[in-house]
Amino acid sequence: MGQRYPRLGNLQDVLDFTDQVVVVTGASRGIGKGIAQAFAERGAIVACVATTEAGAAQTALLLDQAGYRAVPFACDVSHAEQVEGLFANIGDQCGPPSVLVNNAGIARDNLMMRLKDEDWDAVLNVNLKGSYLCAKAVTRTMMKARYGRIVNMSSVVGLHGAAGQANYAASKAGVVGLTKAIAKELGSRGITCNAIAPGFIETDMTSDLPAEFKAHVEKTAPAGRLGTSQDIAPAVLFLASREASYITGQTLTVDGGLFL
Ligand code: NAP
Repeated sequence: MGQRYPRLGNLQDVLDFTDQVVVVTGASRGIGKGIAQAFAERGAIVACVATTEAGAAQTALLLDQAGYRAVPFACDVSHAEQVEGLFANIGDQCGPPSVLVNNAGIARDNLMMRLKDEDWDAVLNVNLKGSYLCAKAVTRTMMKARYGRIVNMSSVVGLHGAAGQANYAASKAGVVGLTKAIAKELGSRGITCNAIAPGFIETDMTSDLPAEFKAHVEKTAPAGRLGTSQDIAPAVLFLASREASYITGQTLTVDGGLFL
């Protein structure tokens, strides 16, 4: 008798999120919109979160019209009370979330000497505190289910720093630490927490980058181009999948090789 071929399971089901409730913050545009779409296309019920109902509804309506399931929610993720209300509403309208993607983020760039304290606070509050508040709000539900996936959005800037982005770099480095801490706290409950560190992705956030800088990225990144939101979504899907159960506390760089 030859050795039995060890099957890895039904690979057709990989990246299937049928009936899973997935919360995507910052889903009105850019990277978050691409992530929301990718989950919806794989059967998830997507809670699309943005600062305004109208912004969130734009994405949710688009997905709804395409025959997918998506519900819009307005919330400023840096406000603890709003976040608490958000997750109560998501629970009522969609059911208990099994995936949280902490994607909402802002940048307020300036050289540190000129940086306004309020711009430091705003960026840390949305990017770092917002991720913490949403993760905290979803933890009880995930612990009860003994299953959960949290994916946080860091940045190559959080790993390598960038002149003129002290606040943004600090917030995104903080997200890496937060990710590791959550992974250690919740790993035994079947909950993983990982981060993505995108390189330069073409969205509203990078629309003001000088043309010379974009040309530099195109020249130096092995991929030969800036990224798109479609480049980030597959990495998020993978880390949020059942199959990624033995990966936690990691930060996956998705930058076309720019920082090799
Ligand atoms: P974007 O196009 O500017 O979109 C930002 C999203 O975050 C919007 O949906 C926005 O909602 C939402 N948001 C902002 N503040 C919020 C708040 N207080 N509460 C709830 N939602 C809020 O940005 P992006 O380029 O897609 O970036 C998405 C994430 O990836 C961010 O965390 C960013 O730091 C990170 N990232 C981006 C790049 C890049 O090159 N683009 C690189 C590395 C990391 P509204 O529409 O309501 O304002």
